[in-house]
Amino acid sequence: MAQKVEAAPFKGFAEADPDQANPWKIAQRQFDIAAQALGLDPNMASVLRECKRQLIVTFPVLMDDHTIQMFTGFRVHHNVDRGPAKGGIRYHPGVTIDEVKALAMWMTWKCAVVGIPYGGAKGGVIVDPKRLSRNELENLTRRYTSEISILIGPDRDIPAPDVNTNAQIMAWMMDTISMHAGHSVPAVVTGKPLGIGGSEGRPEATGRGCMLTTIAALKHLGIRPQDATVAVQGVGNVGYTTAKLLAERGCKVIAVSDSNGACYNEDGIELDEVVREKELNGRLRQQVCEFISNEELLELPVTVLVPAALENQIHRGNANRIKARIVCEGANGPTTPEADEILYDKGVFVIPDILANAGGVTVSYFEWVQDLQEFFWDEHDINERLERIMMRAFDNVLKVSLEKKIMMRTAACRGVPAAAQTTSYCSKSRSM
Ligand code: GLU
Repeated sequence: MAQKVEAAPFKGFAEADPDQANPWKIAQRQFDIAAQALGLDPNMASVLRECKRQLIVTFPVLMDDHTIQMFTGFRVHHNVDRGPAKGGIRYHPGVTIDEVKALAMWMTWKCAVVGIPYGGAKGGVIVDPKRLSRNELENLTRRYTSEISILIGPDRDIPAPDVNTNAQIMAWMMDTISMHAGHSVPAVVTGKPLGIGGSEGRPEATGRGCMLTTIAALKHLGIRPQDATVAVQGVGNVGYTTAKLLAERGCKVIAVSDSNGACYNEDGIELDEVVREKELNGRLRQQVCEFISNEELLELPVTVLVPAALENQIHRGNANRIKARIVCEGANGPTTPEADEILYDKGVFVIPDILANAGGVTVSYFEWVQDLQEFFWDEHDINERLERIMMRAFDNVLKVSLEKKIMMRTAACRGVPAAAQTTSYCSKSRSM
């Protein structure tokens, strides 16, 4: 079963002004909107709108043909006042330092939204992993881990999977750190295989959180799951799990896509058949389905749209044509601030990334706690605790959004004051 978002880039947003499409500029603009709406002290805002640390590493990797190839990677800490830095590692040819900075900042707000004691981080390597052999991927992962080891550690910075990285890559990262420590250090990464300290429920956690928040949004809007149709852009781990769990709750999934395009059938998609076809023949298909583009998928007349691929998919060029009642952001940063306003004015209910996809980091937190305590919980406990946290976060964000008449994204940034409060307590012993 395909469990990864494809490495080939989704066709995103190309604006004349590159700042408009720059994820870091977008993250800062979202922050400014939230800081203003939530009345954040301007001094504190000036601290929180920047990243604390940015490490750029260029390192050699031994390839199978015995040549050495150089790769560039990043690890960024946005803020560490609420706890160790936390966030995934992405392998993608389009990775940039500005993208990693934005993703690190979003991790800070995400952890604050669900109330877990972490700051925000992110990492990435500029690489198309589909072009590497397994051996080359392992060499690259181990060398990158070694290069960023000056930052990572169970009480400092804990990486996890993100686009095109998975449990095996986390295992190589953990082993690289453990080799040098001289003992096993499971709590240095999350999203590991179960046998070496991974957690039950972690692979599905992000999609489960998306499903839970979507069901809560449907309830809020008075729509029964049985009456809801769903389109999912990007049927990797997050998109696939969200689609599968929503179908289990009675929703009808009518379109799914990968980077090559979408498979659409208004009578419903047989998810497992479609994904199996992709494994066998490299293309999402089922017996009766229409092939449409990713852009067309976004504009389908569905109840729920789940962008679960990359950034900047819903922008001012297409936001007006979005027909979904609910947009559940499985991906990080799929909607630009201009599109946010258009969707808000149209009455589209957006479940922002920092809330919708926070299930992943929440179960990462459970995994870290279990590793540190060397005491493991069963899947039922994990899912129950996850649901409690996600529902509390959803209710809190919805309440602020309704009370203050602000977008769900801006309301979710109430994590900004939480981070600011910690930062201001901590500032007494630090020079800001
Ligand atoms: N990469 C995931 C995210 O963007 C998970 C991060 C984590 O578990 O640390 O939320």
